[in-house]
Amino acid sequence: VTTRTPLMAGNWKMNFDHLQAIAFVQKLAWTLKDAKHDYADVEVAVFPPFTDLRSVQTLVEADKLPIAYGGQDLSEHDAGAYTGEISGQFLAALGSRYVIVGHSERRQYHGEDDALLGRKVAAAVRNGVVPVLCVGETAEDLEAHGAAAVPVQQLRDALAAAGEVPELVVAYEPVWAIGSGQAATPEQAQTVCRALRDELRTVVGDEFADATRILYGGSVKAENIAGFMREPDVDGALVGGASLKIDDFASIVRFRS
Ligand code: PEP
Repeated sequence: VTTRTPLMAGNWKMNFDHLQAIAFVQKLAWTLKDAKHDYADVEVAVFPPFTDLRSVQTLVEADKLPIAYGGQDLSEHDAGAYTGEISGQFLAALGSRYVIVGHSERRQYHGEDDALLGRKVAAAVRNGVVPVLCVGETAEDLEAHGAAAVPVQQLRDALAAAGEVPELVVAYEPVWAIGSGQAATPEQAQTVCRALRDELRTVVGDEFADATRILYGGSVKAENIAGFMREPDVDGALVGGASLKIDDFASIVRFRS
């Protein structure tokens, strides 16, 4: 049996400037220290805006905090004439362990499709940053095709465009559940996370499928996290709104206690 270390990831979206970021990460670290949090048991990662990353890195390195961080997006290119873009190279240079790829807000507001997201996954891999690939169906998709078909297709298409991926995190985020206060049920999350793992099994192989963390995201809160974590194929959460509040996020990280 492969044991996957749960990952609790906070997607801050466009919230917190670099000073607020430092205050938040410091307070989060203290709160988890007070609770004697064992990071070997549950890994913690935050995804601040790009302009905060250098400050977060400085704090994490100075205080040797076991908190991972990364970007919310990256360019498919490593450098060049791409005004406004941030590359995987730069994220790696700031010690980013992870980068979110294909969040539904990027798909929706920036027209990112699976072929581009595959190239972004490849860009992350090329630079030694682990992609957190987001997939998920809209309410219309759910109505028309059921829950699993669209996210599985998104995963398949992105991986087909990505080439070899040594390590991946997948986040299943039903679009209708994001920021809506209406989370999926643990059973719904399990069904889709299982289907995504089966897809990894088919496309990449058993070892990779068993080692890959598949997160649920969409209105995760302190009150509902334990239910998701009881499901065998849910290996953590990608948290939006609740990741901006210390006590809520710390409770999510500490879902076992
Ligand atoms: C997200 O945007 O990744 C997310 C899951 O948001 P929320 O937790 O606020 O629904």
